[in-house]
Amino acid sequence: RAKKDTGSAVRVFEPEMDRVESERRSLEVELRRAVIEREFELHYQPIMSVKTGRLRGFEALIRWRHPSRGLVPPADFIPLAEEAGLIEQMGEWVLFEACRQAVDWPGHLIVAVNVSARQFGSDRLVGTVRNALDESGLAAERLEVEITESVLLNDTQDNIEVLQQLRALNARIALDDFGTGYSSMGYLAKFPFNRIKIDRSFVRDIGDNKSSQAVIRAIVSLGSSLGMDITAEGVENADQLEVLISENCSDLQGYLFSPPIPRQDLHRVIEAYCGPEDTVCEDKDKVA
Ligand code: C2E
Ligand code: MG
Ligand code: MG
Ligand code: MG
Repeated sequence: RAKKDTGSAVRVFEPEMDRVESERRSLEVELRRAVIEREFELHYQPIMSVKTGRLRGFEALIRWRHPSRGLVPPADFIPLAEEAGLIEQMGEWVLFEACRQAVDWPGHLIVAVNVSARQFGSDRLVGTVRNALDESGLAAERLEVEITESVLLNDTQDNIEVLQQLRALNARIALDDFGTGYSSMGYLAKFPFNRIKIDRSFVRDIGDNKSSQAVIRAIVSLGSSLGMDITAEGVENADQLEVLISENCSDLQGYLFSPPIPRQDLHRVIEAYCGPEDTVCEDKDKVA
């Protein structure tokens, strides 16, 4: 076979396409095996409360502990897991595992779990969340389900119902990566979110771009007036920290505080950010 006719001036050389496709297939085979063998682990990134200067909780982030490739980040396998129909099984494991682990943390800490659009659209999500809570004994209000706006694009009525069922369980719901994609301020009033997470692209542009600070201000203003918590994602330096605090974000997440860490190191973060006695700290400056 020579070149594939794409019907335009662009011609893709087939051996290259074959290589990409066969790599994708072998990764898919490995991913199927990984789901059975449970080659995944959760890392946890601290979520810091501005008001108390204390830890609010952790976001659980999946990693694939691949036997030869090492630690594979989610961007390299979540899309494939969705295509291959593996995301539901994987997402179920994440929910159960996160709840099982969070139940051992101090009782005021929440755990945030990402749910992909495909998983959200499945009939099983609400049941899975209920089972994960029951099985682990985690208080529902300590679980925060993170979804992205892509979830809200279609079947709006069905989606509202799923969100309402999650809220009826007492679980919390966060809108992740807000400001990217098809963002609409209208979503915010229409859906029962407990939290908005401002996408890190806006945080990154603080300083060299006045408009990103204006967007942050608008999100905080509308979100807070709807009673939602506002997290800024991807906080990496003190300048961003200062702006985000002055713009009244309620919570902060980013490398400035900590990258995602494996669970065996969590106790150190919990001790450092909660204090040995887990006392309430009212000092705003402590947030850094
Ligand atoms: P996300 O939910 O928006 O998670 C935040 C991502 O930003 C994480 O990447 C985190 O490591 C990274 N991050 C945190 N602080 C900083 C910072 O200061 N600077 C920069 N540059 N990055 C920072 P990660 O762990 O690679 O996850 C990427 C995405 O994969 C997540 O974005 C989420 O959409 C998805 N994901 C992760 N775990 C799961 C999961 O269990 N299920 C599903 N469905 N998706 C997941
Ligand atoms: Mg997230
Ligand atoms: Mg995010
Ligand atoms: Mg993201």
